[in-house]
Amino acid sequence: MKCVICKQGETRPGTTTVTIQRGDSTVIFKGVPADVCENCGEYYLLEDITRQLFQRAEEAVQKGAEVEILRWRATSHPIRHAILSWARSVLLSSKELPTRAIR
Ligand SMILES: [Zn+2]
Repeated sequence: MKCVICKQGETRPGTTTVTIQRGDSTVIFKGVPADVCENCGEYYLLEDITRQLFQRAEEAVQKGAEVEILRWRATSHPIRHAILSWARSVLLSSKELPTRAIR
C-alpha cells in the first residue's frame, strides 16, 4: 500500500522495533513484523500484532519494569523447542536411574 505519512513510498513486509511508553515504563520490542515504508521508514502494524504488543507491554508495566527489551515471540519458538527436548532428555535419564540403582 502507499505510505500515508510521506505519500511517496510503498510499504513492504519487514520487521521493525516498536517502543511503547506506559507511565514510567518503556517497553521495546525488536523484530516485530510490520509493513515498512521504503521511503520514510514509517511502519504499519497489523491490528492483531498491535493488540499483542500492548498486552505484553501491560504485563511489563505490572511487573514494574522501567525498561524492558523483548524480542518478538516468533523467535521464541526454537527456545520452547529446546526446553521440550531438554525436558524429554531429563525424563529419559531419570527412567534409567532406578535400573542403575538395582544393579
Ligand atoms: Zn513513507
